Amino acid sequence: MGSKKRKRGLVEGFRVLTLLYRVSELPAGAFQRLVELFKAYRAVAALYFWSKRLNIEEGVELALERARQLLPSYYRHAFDERSQVYQFGEVGKMRRPRKIVLQLPLVEALHPNCGAYIEDNKLIVRLGNGERLELPLPERALRWLQEKEREVAPLKVAKIVRIQWREDRPEYLKVQIVLRVERQKPVMPDPKSALLVYVDANSDYGIVAVYAVSDGSETRVLETPKLKPPNRGRRLMEAARRKHAAAQGRKPSVNYALARLSERFDSRGWVKSAAARIFKKAFQRASGRSLMMNFDIPDPESVKNSSLQKTLISLRKVADNLAKWFGVYATFECYPSTVCPYCGSKLEIAYTRRTRIAYCTKCGFYDDRDYVPFYHWCKALGLPMPKWPLQRIELPEELRRKLNTVRPGSPG
Ligand SMILES: [Zn+2]
Repeated sequence: MGSKKRKRGLVEGFRVLTLLYRVSELPAGAFQRLVELFKAYRAVAALYFWSKRLNIEEGVELALERARQLLPSYYRHAFDERSQVYQFGEVGKMRRPRKIVLQLPLVEALHPNCGAYIEDNKLIVRLGNGERLELPLPERALRWLQEKEREVAPLKVAKIVRIQWREDRPEYLKVQIVLRVERQKPVMPDPKSALLVYVDANSDYGIVAVYAVSDGSETRVLETPKLKPPNRGRRLMEAARRKHAAAQGRKPSVNYALARLSERFDSRGWVKSAAARIFKKAFQRASGRSLMMNFDIPDPESVKNSSLQKTLISLRKVADNLAKWFGVYATFECYPSTVCPYCGSKLEIAYTRRTRIAYCTKCGFYDDRDYVPFYHWCKALGLPMPKWPLQRIELPEELRRKLNTVRPGSPG
């Protein structure tokens, strides 16, 4: 087969002749041999293709070795880059997929008879042929595992160990122990006997939660915590201060390390811990009641270019997972924050130093804008409205006068 080195300025022209034959009219024996060849080629080609695509040299070599064993020499040109019949010219141009395929070389249950198990504060990974890799497990990790198992008892937790190593980050071996619990999908509790938790991630502030109970004649708000991620400006200032101290020779290694820590804010980590706190408080507040939670999270399309909002989107996945883990009934519905829950008029916003006050010029309703969706949720559940405002708000004098003309006297 001649070399295919194309000269600059030349183009290749093609003409294709297509012929069709009926299999039933072909000699059966030879045709069967062709099918076998085809199957062998297909398996070798798949190994070659993916190894090329994933940059796994050992895979390419293995494929070529198999080709030598299984394919007649003239068909092996399909794997020869210099050949005119080379079949994989496009592979190099494709993007290399890395996740999943390359990160999970070992997935096994956590049990002495399986690929990995825990013994004496160590994670033992079996390597085959009686060999094992012992990885120390910190006390904290062991406690975490026990705690998580207790959280869902008496349900059984299934455990899987994932071991990940990447050529592009060769200095780390990443080990994950994944706990999984299976349970019935929680049914919707009666809102009149449940602890109601409304979580709003639409706020400019961070995450706002409203904890309430209702007996059908009165809806009582218990608590309205707001969770705010660490301030970015303050973190960067702190980092600059540390770097300056380090440059002056004051404990450089400590100060540089602390500067790096302040600079690198793990926003997903913050969302995870915020969600965990919301659930924890819900269990404390529930005292025997069922839980009913709604997470109001903006959909990714509608999010403005604010990094806080982007961070908050990840709350959906985190909350969904926690709800499934604990068996909590959770919905992910969005309710309006700009419509008056009483008369349906469009709400106006007044900014004070601490709050954005949403108010209605038709009926005099006002509250912190972040709490407005909770009223709409109560309405949707057929529950009475809570007393408003949920928390005391210092109204600016001008706004107080404006609202008094609509509805004289103090509200709620
Ligand atoms: Zn109104």
